[in-house]
Amino acid sequence: SDQPRLAFHDGHAIPQVGLGVWKTANDEAAAVIRTAIDTGYRHIDTAAAYDNEEGVGEGIRQSGLPRDEIFLTTKLWNTEQGYDQTLKAFDASLKRLGTDYVDLYLIHWPAPSKGLFVDTWRAFIKLQQEGRIRSVGVSNFYPEHLEKIIAETGVTPVINQIELHPDFQQKQARDFHQAHKILTESWSPLGQGKLMQDAAIQSIARRLGRTPAQVIIRWHIENGLVVIPKSSNPARIAENFDVFGFELSTEDMAALDGLDSPSARMGADPMTASF
Ligand code: NAD
Repeated sequence: SDQPRLAFHDGHAIPQVGLGVWKTANDEAAAVIRTAIDTGYRHIDTAAAYDNEEGVGEGIRQSGLPRDEIFLTTKLWNTEQGYDQTLKAFDASLKRLGTDYVDLYLIHWPAPSKGLFVDTWRAFIKLQQEGRIRSVGVSNFYPEHLEKIIAETGVTPVINQIELHPDFQQKQARDFHQAHKILTESWSPLGQGKLMQDAAIQSIARRLGRTPAQVIIRWHIENGLVVIPKSSNPARIAENFDVFGFELSTEDMAALDGLDSPSARMGADPMTASF
């Protein structure tokens, strides 16, 4: 399909809009994934910690599409960091997913107090050399964590998946990523659903005959961000993907840019997250 894809510095590419499946139950995941793929999604974002890799893998197989038409991301959980642990945890993820490779594997959190993310990154590089991970990336890394893995291994992640929504825009992180050819991927792109209540966003949506979710997703797209809205509801899954037929004006983009607030973080701060 002709949906936008963004190029990684390693030669691969990622469909810009994907489906997030945090909190999608394992026993509903296959149906959700089938619906999304029927709708046109070609990119799924899961994690070992979401406890739904089996259902996700099942849904991809049930779609009937060849495996290589789907871009599949999963993530290594914090308790599995370290070189040997990572190799084992990756095998277990592949087994649950029922596939022999992932397109993108992410270190879920840096967990700096463990002091293991560099060893973990070395295991990612080995798995990529073996062809079982197409592209290697990270999540929730601060620039100082990125600098450390790059300095110690010479391998730059293709992407950093971080909390990012119109009221929490992460401009410093995005500037750092851009300078290092790292893509930025927005998690909780809809502010976990709460941003849909914002009056400014609602008024733009009304004027354009679009929904607040579609306006927010467009803001991510036009900022060059990879975006993975979550829903298990077929109508919303379709709505969140019906975002390629309109654009936001410079004025509307500026109004959304004005919503940025440093205190609007919803999730944990990666520097101090205690899980
Ligand atoms: P989100 O911002 O995507 O919001 C999802 C919620 O918004 C839904 O549960 C629903 O309540 C609502 N919603 C979705 N579509 C809607 C629509 N069209 N109209 C009205 N309401 C709608 O939140 P999220 O799930 O936290 O984030 C998306 C994905 O990001 C996750 O599923 C996961 O894949 C990823 N994620 C990653 C991390 C990380 O640490 N790497 C952390 C959180 C989330």
